[in-house]
Amino acid sequence: MLTKVIPEEKVVATYKAIQRAKRIVIVAHKRPDGDAIGSCLGLYHFLYSFERETFIILPDAIPANMTILPSSSEILNFELEPEKCKSILAETDLIFCLDFNNLSRIGDLGPIIAQSTAEKVMLDHHLDYEPFADVAISHPEIASTSELVFRLICRMGYFADMTQQTAECICAGMLTDTGGLAYNSNSPEIYTIFAELLRKGVDKDALYRHLFNTYKENRMRLMGYVLSQKLEILPEYNTAIFGLSEKELMKFNYEKGDTEGFVNLPLSINGVKFSIFAREDKTGVKLSLRSVGSFPANKFANQFFGGGGHLNASGAESNLSLQETIDKIKQVLPDFCKSPTY
Ligand code: 5GP
Ligand code: MN
Repeated sequence: MLTKVIPEEKVVATYKAIQRAKRIVIVAHKRPDGDAIGSCLGLYHFLYSFERETFIILPDAIPANMTILPSSSEILNFELEPEKCKSILAETDLIFCLDFNNLSRIGDLGPIIAQSTAEKVMLDHHLDYEPFADVAISHPEIASTSELVFRLICRMGYFADMTQQTAECICAGMLTDTGGLAYNSNSPEIYTIFAELLRKGVDKDALYRHLFNTYKENRMRLMGYVLSQKLEILPEYNTAIFGLSEKELMKFNYEKGDTEGFVNLPLSINGVKFSIFAREDKTGVKLSLRSVGSFPANKFANQFFGGGGHLNASGAESNLSLQETIDKIKQVLPDFCKSPTY
């Protein structure tokens, strides 16, 4: 038996919103990861039971390893088809906002969703919710948005109807945000949910392999380059830092998603508690930050780069050059590490 995490009135309000709606759109954050995509597709498959016209619109493309998930080919990419997405959104009664809690996380879709008169239901597990939804199901204590989708379906009374496809997508999201149950997964209820997903027919081992072990040779070589040539360890601050320029990425025929997980690698070095990866792209420098224990990666991202996220996994965008970004990190790190705030 699972704890009733989502308040009853929010379950009822969401159920009524689905019943009222003729057309439903599901959106998730930019550079969608397995949890964003898994939660969207899980909900999408679940909504088949309601026979509503349903769409998933994401701000940009999904990584190649996610195309294994059922119906991933039906996901619309706003970057590729902005006009089509806008016209779908214009006629929508209900928008589900998954795995983000701030409209700035969905790029150019943000202002469109903000202006839409459609009812908005948010399901998310990030800290610091910025109010925009009619129904906000915000649970930072839950490891993934996909888990929240599972809980919502159960609470609506549809567990028995949950299909294998829905279960697969939810499982993919839960695996992604826990690194395959390697972290953020001490809650016993996660395993109760996994047991139920397996009973629905999910092949968890195959899914894991597809999600984590189907990368291209180029990615492996890029990883080797990072580890042997780029990684800097600052032992006095228990910190690892590395950056990749667009030029370096191009040498390895970089494709979206290729550097996924790189930032976690230095955390397996004894003594490293904070890892920062700066990746240059056309629009600026994207920062990924990971930490272990009580070191607040999100506070660092927010204080120096206006980003955010979770205590142990956060991100930000820097508008400095790659070198300036790395220099700034090194410059602010000593004081930050001395600070008694963590
Ligand atoms: P990643 O490093 O995987 O891109 O992001 C890790 C986490 O950091 C995400 O789940 C999200 O919570 C947060 N995050 C990533 N990029 C940004 C950003 O640009 N701004 C904010 N506020 N949070 C971010
Ligand atoms: Mn997530």
